[in-house]
Amino acid sequence: TIRTQDVYAEQRFEQSLLETAVKERQILNDFDDALKNGELRLFLQPQIGLDGKMHRAEALSRWFHKDRGLIMPGDFIPILERSDNIYRMDHYIWEQAAKQLAIWEKAGHGDVSISVNVSPKDLYYGDVADIFIRLAEKYKINPARLHLEITESTIIENFDACNLIIEKLRKRGFLVGLDDFGSGYSSLNMLQNIQADILKLDMGFLRKLDQWERGKQIIKLVIDLAKTLDMAVVAEGVETAEQVQYLRELQCDYLQGFYFSKPIAVDEFEKKYFA
Ligand code: C2E
Ligand code: MG
Ligand code: MG
Ligand code: MG
Repeated sequence: TIRTQDVYAEQRFEQSLLETAVKERQILNDFDDALKNGELRLFLQPQIGLDGKMHRAEALSRWFHKDRGLIMPGDFIPILERSDNIYRMDHYIWEQAAKQLAIWEKAGHGDVSISVNVSPKDLYYGDVADIFIRLAEKYKINPARLHLEITESTIIENFDACNLIIEKLRKRGFLVGLDDFGSGYSSLNMLQNIQADILKLDMGFLRKLDQWERGKQIIKLVIDLAKTLDMAVVAEGVETAEQVQYLRELQCDYLQGFYFSKPIAVDEFEKKYFA
């Protein structure tokens, strides 16, 4: 026998699937124009060093949709990834970042670096390394100022492609960071197989830091391990003064999180940090 509540539950489910499909279609329909019209914007979130100064920034994209307003990466990046459009968006953001580095260099801020995110789908295009090399040449920037952020799952999904790209770019002087380190299951394995320059401690580590002594010990160990391997450590998702104090005690090289700033537009970033 079919119960009314089950029928309703099923309808609700189908309704939400339909909504999802419609939204997904809209995102894809609007994407080309959005890219052309500058609706996709580079936002920057500062990374603060042990000296309390801003040294680096992460590039995070924001979509200012002409009708729908601000759309966050979580609501469009997976759709672009599923439809093989992410590469076009990432290429655009990488180019914005390179351009920004060139502008800063001329303005006397050539010591600041920007890290950009690389999606696993980007790696299906064999020329990711060449794209970065060409961008550095086109904008005449020091490759060491442009960092790539790659997650463990990206590396695991495409180990060979990833490893090739990482080796090629590191040889050219670009820096590579392991994003969301510790959020997956084979982080240590990855450290053994991939040489990188930066370890980004996943924000999951910080969540229980205030109540949990074991969490503190694990963070300490990971930071020490990274340093032993000559990697700089960036802690992500830093929100409280207690976290700042503890991470600084452990000599965590850079701190990134809402405690210091949310990701902000480039002009706002310049006003805040270059004034
Ligand atoms: P991610 O690369 O790990 O970036 C860090 C995310 O954590 C960002 O979310 C950032 O706004 C957020 N965050 C930073 N500090 C804090 C904090 O103190 N507390 C909390 N709760 N969150 C904090 P966002 O900008 O929404 O981006 C989410 C994810 O989307 C990114 O994770 C990255 O994987 C992806 N993403 C963003 N922009 C791009 C892009 O241009 N290309 C690609 N391929 N992926 C991107
Ligand atoms: Mg990242
Ligand atoms: Mg991250
Ligand atoms: Mg992430």
